[in-house]
Amino acid sequence: MSAVRHLAPAWRFTDRADGDLSITAEDVEARRRAVVDLPWTWLHQVHGSDVMVVGRPGEHAGQTADAAVTAVPGAAVAVQVADCAPVALLGPAGVGAVHAGWRGVVAGVVGAAVQRMRLLGPGAVRAVVGPCIRPCCYEFGTDDLDRVATALGDGVRARTSDGRPALDLPAAVQRSLAAAGVADVVDEGVCTACSPRHWSHRARGDRRRQALVAWLE
Ligand SMILES: [Zn+2]
Repeated sequence: MSAVRHLAPAWRFTDRADGDLSITAEDVEARRRAVVDLPWTWLHQVHGSDVMVVGRPGEHAGQTADAAVTAVPGAAVAVQVADCAPVALLGPAGVGAVHAGWRGVVAGVVGAAVQRMRLLGPGAVRAVVGPCIRPCCYEFGTDDLDRVATALGDGVRARTSDGRPALDLPAAVQRSLAAAGVADVVDEGVCTACSPRHWSHRARGDRRRQALVAWLE
């Protein structure tokens, strides 16, 4: 009797202890493999809304996009971040990784990735929002804030801890997920600018990056 193989979505948000996972980091491939020993599809991220569909392990590595999804066991999809939100999409048929900064969110990257996830197979898609910059630390120009609010509603407007206009990036991501029909969302609640365990481009000018990697196991 042969057993039916059930695949489970798996994901990891790295932190500083895992080392620099920026695409130009020296020995980054070895560092990736130390986190998850599978071929990674990493991306040249441009704050757009293109989504790569990965049909075999490592396919589309280094291509230009801001999200990747896969239904293939043994393929790892990844994004690298240091304030932008890493969003893991998890379903019974596949997994996805989304790089969600404010420009990408306005461009519709979250909804585009959810749509691609749904094409992988049936079953509810859920999401986990990883460490990203939070309104406490994300002072934001009012013109740009208006742009995000026009796209995603006034719920994205917030204040920094010292009372200045701020963008609530996780709220913008949540709003995008809700619009795409994803109701089961866990937000890890970590602010990269506040957290000593994470790199922050905005708060400390870090050029190093943490990663989100997702795979089926
Ligand atoms: Zn903060």
